[in-house]
Amino acid sequence: MALQSVGFHCRRLYNNTNQCIIISQKIISYGIRYYTSNIKPDLTSVRYNVKRGPFEKINNGHVNFFTDLLGKNRVTTDPDECDTYNIDWIKMVRGNSRLILKPKTTNEISNILKYCNDNKLAVCPQSGNTGLVGGSVPVFDEIVISMKLMNNIISIDELSGALVCEAGCVLESLDNYLDKYQLMMPLDLGAKGSCLIGGNVSTNAGGLRLLRYGNLHGSILGLEAVTANGQIIDLMNTLKKDNTGYHLKNLFIGSEGTLGIITKISIQCPTRPKSTSLAFLGLNNFEQVLNTYKLAKYELAEILSSCEMMDSQSMGISTNLLKLKNPLDNEHKFYMIIETSGSNQKHDEEKLNDFLEKSMSNNFIEDGTLSGDPAKIQHMWAVRERLGEGCLLDGYCFKYDVSLPLPHFWKLLDALEKQLDMSRVVRLSGFGHLGDGNLHVVVATPEYDEVIDSQLEPFLFEYVSKYNGSISAEHGIGFKKTKYLSYSKSKSAIDLMYQMKNMMDPNGILNPYKVLP
Ligand code: FAD
Repeated sequence: MALQSVGFHCRRLYNNTNQCIIISQKIISYGIRYYTSNIKPDLTSVRYNVKRGPFEKINNGHVNFFTDLLGKNRVTTDPDECDTYNIDWIKMVRGNSRLILKPKTTNEISNILKYCNDNKLAVCPQSGNTGLVGGSVPVFDEIVISMKLMNNIISIDELSGALVCEAGCVLESLDNYLDKYQLMMPLDLGAKGSCLIGGNVSTNAGGLRLLRYGNLHGSILGLEAVTANGQIIDLMNTLKKDNTGYHLKNLFIGSEGTLGIITKISIQCPTRPKSTSLAFLGLNNFEQVLNTYKLAKYELAEILSSCEMMDSQSMGISTNLLKLKNPLDNEHKFYMIIETSGSNQKHDEEKLNDFLEKSMSNNFIEDGTLSGDPAKIQHMWAVRERLGEGCLLDGYCFKYDVSLPLPHFWKLLDALEKQLDMSRVVRLSGFGHLGDGNLHVVVATPEYDEVIDSQLEPFLFEYVSKYNGSISAEHGIGFKKTKYLSYSKSKSAIDLMYQMKNMMDPNGILNPYKVLP
């Protein structure tokens, strides 16, 4: 057993997704064994046999209208440029849009939607295009409304921590901006360098700190959105408490672009902790993982800010594919990352040391390292955070994001091992936000494999439903899971969702083929 303590000064440093992309391209150019990046997925409509909705096709008259509204530079019809908006981040789906619009103001979005609604033109809102369920790209020729140019910060209230900004701000840029006010964004995820806050709100993204700061339904104080007919709905608010009438902002949070386009947000930002510490632990069975988590909650209590886990196959992604060094000298079946954040370094350090001693004396953990060195902390986080990017280097990835009661958490992986023809699988791995009961399952195959697809679905969703889990813990339903919505929502709930959709978007132009079956 080796536990090293290297001091406790640490501020988390972030890796950024742009860098990651460059790194993976570099690896691909060495031509070792990776072939993901250059492969264009089949058209979604073909692979998943989808029927086009009753929408108009885009003609020159439509393009002229948008060019008059936005100017030539913010209307893209070039097929090559359009294609970069048609393929999702994991290369699972591909649309065929031939028109990309880049509005800069809420009024422009309002005019675009009014025109589209009047002319029965379907649209697909797109932010950073890091969504993992095929929601952010068109299925057919929907007009892509890119939010990237709506990226102004409007105000910050240092006292209350309320940040107001446009929906197209990059999550990581907002966090960097808040640093000088000793504030931080309440959410943090591996895609932070590319995803936009409007995309985060639209997917109700969770991430690494949900355990501490809760989900966006709690942090979002207000928002502005435009509905299908172009109406601007002002739900902006910077108050923490406002109990007046229906909480309409919650309708848009997690609605994945099917009820309106979010244009501005107001978000409660917590104080940036003065002290942060990280422990990277090795464990040999899942029971030890659960025991360690239970002990961490009890011993670390208010300073526990993240509790993540990954298995040995996931560590293989980091060490073999991403060439990152395992922070521990020996290999283990499971690894955990436990982060504490607080205001008193000495106090936090003492608590973490006590916790680790107890974990070791109870034989919960086999090995561990603890660091206060920012570079080491950055490295330890990278081993976990870059898994999303790293698993693509195996070939094609079937990625799932489920919630399960913790006693059933790991049994899903065992069940999948029995269910799948493992001779076709390059890697079956599991990692996730243990503290939130959220497991990411990744099944990698050399390329898209129909047989594995049919062995995975609906089996995996049936399993999750049987044990009262959710088919989507945080990524949403998007295009990919619509037909399985009923595994996690009752018929009455789905009926009400349809009624709301029909009321707010009677022509169904907003992100069709997504969320609702
Ligand atoms: P997009 O992917 O562009 O869009 C997502 C959905 O929202 C689409 O349906 C789109 O139509 C809609 N939409 C986008 N903008 C708007 C808008 N302004 N108004 C209305 N609808 C809109 N997710 C997590 O929850 N937790 C994680 O820990 C996590 N880690 C990730 C790590 C990596 C490496 C990657 C690639 C993804 C990860 N994700 C995670 C998934 C993804 O990053 C999140 O879902 C993110 O919130 C999507 O933001 P985006 O800006 O990329 O939105």
